[in-house]
Amino acid sequence: MSISRRDFITSAAMTSLAVGLRAQESSSSAPAQSSPSQTRTVSGTGSGRSKPPILISSANGWNGSDKGYQMLKDGKDTLDAAIAVGKTQEDDPNDMSVGLGGLPNEEGVVELDSCCMHGPTRRAGSVGAVRNIKNVALLGQAVMQHTGHVMLVGEGAEKFGYAMGFPKENLLTERAHQIWLMWKESNSNEDWWGPGLDDPNYHVPGEGGEQATVNTEEMWELQRQRLYDLAERLHVEPEWREFAVNAVLYPPHGTIHVSVLNEKNEMSGMTTTSGLAWKIPGRCGDSPIIGAGNYCDQDVGSAGATGSGEENIRVAGAHTIVENMRHGMSPQEAGFDTLKRIARNFNNDMNKLRYVDMEFYILRKDGAYAGVSMWSGAPGRPRHFCVHDGSKRLEPCISLYQGAALDYPPHSRMRSRAAAK
Ligand code: ASP
Repeated sequence: MSISRRDFITSAAMTSLAVGLRAQESSSSAPAQSSPSQTRTVSGTGSGRSKPPILISSANGWNGSDKGYQMLKDGKDTLDAAIAVGKTQEDDPNDMSVGLGGLPNEEGVVELDSCCMHGPTRRAGSVGAVRNIKNVALLGQAVMQHTGHVMLVGEGAEKFGYAMGFPKENLLTERAHQIWLMWKESNSNEDWWGPGLDDPNYHVPGEGGEQATVNTEEMWELQRQRLYDLAERLHVEPEWREFAVNAVLYPPHGTIHVSVLNEKNEMSGMTTTSGLAWKIPGRCGDSPIIGAGNYCDQDVGSAGATGSGEENIRVAGAHTIVENMRHGMSPQEAGFDTLKRIARNFNNDMNKLRYVDMEFYILRKDGAYAGVSMWSGAPGRPRHFCVHDGSKRLEPCISLYQGAALDYPPHSRMRSRAAAK
């Protein structure tokens, strides 16, 4: 059966409520990243205090954190250790939210963002919307070390990278290209143009008594089945089809943040990402923004973020957390206060907040740490973060709200756009 684009659009418009209920955290379930709790040590309560060296990261820091921890033990520079963890993911084509293999923008081009802060020298470096260079965390560090600037973006950052000897590489893997083709063919009407969640006139589906007029369960299954068929026709590997279908319906979140503290009480932090899938070319999220995706002042602590970049920029999340700790809050309190500022930006409207996915990773100079999240996660798939203090483990994030964030965008977005005009 051939499926026209209109068929997809029509069915999408009819499935809003079911989509919202079914989508929970599905978009981040790539094979390489799925259910880490099944194979990895999970312990702790989401906050604690350890003796340095200690390394705190998003859950996908698991693969690289042994190396980073060893570098801290060996007395290597704190930022070099943090970047080594991030680079592990940048080099891994199976992490489709960072570096090589990251999902591309709406034109099918991979654009990467990163920033870093070096506690001992109190310096920062950052790059945004960089094409064709894989290790953008190192590129941000190079901006810090070899220029009088803090941030370079786009073509200028790329040219600077080549001048510094970074190789030009094709970052769009075959798999990422196939998934982009799926999105382009079936769901690219659901792009990032038009009013966002923060627009006061934007109403999410289900608000205001909007009712489903068809059997939404059936339509939902039909739409997903069509996408599975498309994935097969485009030769997406079978074990990646679930991820591909979800990535088409909901631009996945990802990103890696790492904060570290060594035995000399030196600290650094870095964040690196391919950002939101299907974004408008040139879009920078929070990850390259010093003070949002990452902030470190080793007199106080270091913090970083993954999740809804736009929301995090609006509260300067990482900086707010460090300043909160400067004024006496614990890592958990500092993170919760910042999450509440995001909630306040939506006037605590749960209809919108349920679409906001946000996690902060927080390390204080005395080794106190916490991972906090807006939502606790889907049943059986709680939000985690990675801690390495000699024993490597995942700990559950402490959450402001119980339950899972719904994947954004809500699927009657086209209709909502019309309503907002
Ligand atoms: N914060 C990243 C961004 O907005 C995405 C993510 O962490 O999932 O680009």
